[in-house]
Amino acid sequence: MDMITQAPRGTLDVLPEDSHKWQYIESTALSIAQDFGFREIRTPVFEHTNLFQRSVGETTDVVQKEMYTFEDKGGRSITLRPEGTAGAARAALEHGLLNSALPVKVSYVTSCYRYEKSQKGRYREFHQFGVECFGAAAPQADAETISLALLILKSLGLENVKLHINSIGCPTCRARYHEALRAYFEAHKDELCGTCLGRLERNPMRILDCKSPVCHELAAKAPVMIDYLCDNCAAHFEAVKGCLDAAEMPYELDTHIVRGLDYYTRTVFELVAPNGLVVAGGGRYDGLLQELGGVAQPGLGFAMGLERLLMVMEENGCHFPPAPKCELYFVSMGTKAVQQCFAMATKLREGGVAVECDIVGRSLKAQMKYADKLGARYTVVVGDNELETGVAQLKDMTTGESEEIRLDDSLYTTLYRKSLDRELAGMTNLFGSVAEIG
Ligand code: AMP
Repeated sequence: MDMITQAPRGTLDVLPEDSHKWQYIESTALSIAQDFGFREIRTPVFEHTNLFQRSVGETTDVVQKEMYTFEDKGGRSITLRPEGTAGAARAALEHGLLNSALPVKVSYVTSCYRYEKSQKGRYREFHQFGVECFGAAAPQADAETISLALLILKSLGLENVKLHINSIGCPTCRARYHEALRAYFEAHKDELCGTCLGRLERNPMRILDCKSPVCHELAAKAPVMIDYLCDNCAAHFEAVKGCLDAAEMPYELDTHIVRGLDYYTRTVFELVAPNGLVVAGGGRYDGLLQELGGVAQPGLGFAMGLERLLMVMEENGCHFPPAPKCELYFVSMGTKAVQQCFAMATKLREGGVAVECDIVGRSLKAQMKYADKLGARYTVVVGDNELETGVAQLKDMTTGESEEIRLDDSLYTTLYRKSLDRELAGMTNLFGSVAEIG
């Protein structure tokens, strides 16, 4: 197998024909989050390994089996980030973001790395859009975070994702739950996988998200956290649901959501697509900042898997904005015309027009064919004749109609006027259809 021209297993290339879809998803998510007060944070792809051991948790699948960890040339243990929360929390603490007005709200688009069995919707390099909100303890913060995730999906045309919520309590009520879980799994000790045997002592909750089929089956019948919530956690959960009810956001209680990372407390949630894939997951992590040696401030957030989101959008026939196209293609014949077209293209590009000209040295016919392939909206043929008269034909490639234009600065105005006309026509269509409805 030729390794040089083959990407590593579990990775995906985004090709030029699809990149506008990614840009659309990312900019939609970032801009809606911005309306909620979240501002973008960018953190490194790699961090010190112990950051993830501390935050994600030593007994999780992610830390035990899936991290890309290596020693750098300085002998430090480094890990490619398996998720976005730890880095954001680390940066917030390092730069004292929590010393200013609270809450602090950050958003991000990041690549993540997990050595997982690659399959549909599961990759070794994947991308997340995520948000973190530090310093908000009230239940309405949970509801706000959930509503942001839902609104992003709705804006992208996905109204049929289901919101699943659960509460996994705090360390106080969890101690009681651990007892019950341990007793349950103790009775099935012989059936547990090797990893889970170790978890039984140290963190029995992690058995609940083990991917081995037998453990998974046992987990389905295990006691559930929701039955062990302390009064405070139960009241918090009721208040979160109260907000969701008030805003008429439907949800399902899913007592089996525990999330695969240790830092979660109280509210956890997942957004489930019609095909069953979890496109986003998140929740509260009130102990994380302190665990990392920082201030005792609560936090919460979610992450959306972008590969999965794109897959689900395509499966559901969601609308994407069209790929950007060439507005004007200059077809040139002869050295003088090439130079003149280059000069005109330079000016038009400075004005923000998407212009292309021949850079291959093709024949007139081949240039026209290429312009057609590009989907150029207009073409202008420039040869000796056009140079001499300063007049050329602007050809509308959709209608095939041509009109006379001058090869000077008025070309910019002509193109601009045409784009305004199209925009106006689009608006008339829109208002026309609104009028019909109203
Ligand atoms: P998690 O950090 O595990 O809670 O995951 C958050 C979201 O990231 C999930 O809901 C998925 O949409 C996505 N995700 C997690 N792991 C993968 C993976 N291996 N490949 C693709 N997407 C993933």
